[in-house]
Amino acid sequence: MKYKKINKLLIGTNNKGKLREIRGLLPKKVATFSTSDFKLKSPKENGKTFKENSFIKSKYFSKKTNLICLADDSGLEIDLLNKKPGIHSARWGGKKSNFNKAIKKVYKELKKKDFYWFKKKTKARFICALTISYLDKKIASVIGTIDGHISKKPKGKNGFGYDPIFIPKNYNKTFGEMKSSKKYKIDHRFMAFKKIKKFF
Ligand code: IMP
Repeated sequence: MKYKKINKLLIGTNNKGKLREIRGLLPKKVATFSTSDFKLKSPKENGKTFKENSFIKSKYFSKKTNLICLADDSGLEIDLLNKKPGIHSARWGGKKSNFNKAIKKVYKELKKKDFYWFKKKTKARFICALTISYLDKKIASVIGTIDGHISKKPKGKNGFGYDPIFIPKNYNKTFGEMKSSKKYKIDHRFMAFKKIKKFF
């Protein structure tokens, strides 16, 4: 099937880390706008899944700007915590999205579940839902994941969010220790983007 290529796009996120990464994934010929170009606040994310929340954001930002919007909803699922923080990953950082606070909470919750959690591999995965929409119309909605485990302690200063505590499968460094150029080629956002790149 042939798709009409999108050449003008709003990237629907107020997270600078995500914005940088998504801009890097898009072909240079696509003219991109950010939510800060329009001084837009994010909508309330009251969906039950990553996909629902990415559509909520995409639709909201598209309606505000009348542009086709690509929005991301992502987070970290930790098996020992019954897949938490999941869709609440940003909220674990509190109102100011303090990532140190979110990481402290992860370690606290892990210790509560199992005092010796660090002696085993604590499986986790990053998930990313990407939705493209124009006003109310959903054009595409996809999911990308990367499996890995939680590091015994935070390591590295690169990236954002939970990057310092996530070690992707088949690697021995956290995302926080990896160069961003490396992370961007293997992570959940990249895996999701592969499924929609035909639109650009
Ligand atoms: P939301 O999609 O804006 O609700 O926020 C997702 C949250 O998940 C972010 O604020 C981060 O805490 C976390 N997150 C999502 N993707 C990544 C990533 O690539 N690295 C580190 N943390 C991430």
